[in-house]
Amino acid sequence: MAMILDGKKIADVRLKILKEEIESSGLSPRLATVIVGVDPASQMYIRMKHRACGQVGIGSAGMELAGDATTEQVLRAVTKLNNDADIHGILIQLPLPKQVDTERVIAAVRPDKDVDGFHPYNLGLLFSGRPRFAPCTPKGIMTLLAEYKIEVAGSRAVMIGRSIDVGRPMSALLTNADATVTVCHSKTKDLAKELTRADILISAIGKAHFITREMVSPGATVIDVGINQLNGKLVGDVDFAAVKDIASAITPVPGGVGPMTIATLMENTYRAAIVRTCDTAW
Ligand code: NAP
Repeated sequence: MAMILDGKKIADVRLKILKEEIESSGLSPRLATVIVGVDPASQMYIRMKHRACGQVGIGSAGMELAGDATTEQVLRAVTKLNNDADIHGILIQLPLPKQVDTERVIAAVRPDKDVDGFHPYNLGLLFSGRPRFAPCTPKGIMTLLAEYKIEVAGSRAVMIGRSIDVGRPMSALLTNADATVTVCHSKTKDLAKELTRADILISAIGKAHFITREMVSPGATVIDVGINQLNGKLVGDVDFAAVKDIASAITPVPGGVGPMTIATLMENTYRAAIVRTCDTAW
């Protein structure tokens, strides 16, 4: 039976430490979130992020725009937050409605307030091996691997999914940490063969129980980013019940990667506040 990588437990410990650090810093970090429309899942994620802010002593402000808002209206909201000296971090809740140009909105966020790490400038730094704000989900996964002392350097890591929020930045962080990285996607030939080569297998495709026992090499570490509904239950991309007996370590869903993502957002926001006072903190 694999070791369970308990993201909830690690995130709770890190949030407690962060709260103490913020209290003793004399800083008042503040995160602003922007949500467009009333998608229930997005609203739930926003509530969770605001709750975490309250837990660690980060101030939070929420901007809510109507579901039919235009790109220009969202850009005006971002500009307002960019110019607000009391706001250290800005988070745009994705996905944005179809009529809004997501790339323009992300590129409009001031890079030093881009705590989600999606701005092309921050992604460029990440891919050049000098990350400033790394996207929260992949950075949270690196923290989880480090907390459980899972060897990344020299390992063969296989990432399934190449999105800008998970797959691509994850591949950069793993490369920066000296793993040998393969990125798979929907056009990958013989996916199972690629996956069975992995010492560390990370799935972010959004398909319930897609990763079966046959795709996992004995002793691999399996990180499940996926969040899917199956028969009214929240499940990951990995068939947890089958894979836990062959992997050496595995994240559960829920309680694995998700809490690490939120804890990392809090850490990035605090870092943004530190950097405001002391640029050498990068
Ligand atoms: P996304 O933008 O939809 O990307 C999905 C990726 O999976 C794409 O690169 C796609 O390939 C690939 N893919 C889809 N079907 C595949 C298949 N059959 N074989 C191989 N590759 C396949 O999704 P995302 O934003 O990265 O999110 C992925 C999942 O993670 C979702 O369930 C999401 O809810 C979850 N998520 C969780 C957290 C967290 O904190 N736990 C954070 C973010 C996302 P192509 O590029 O070729 O289309």
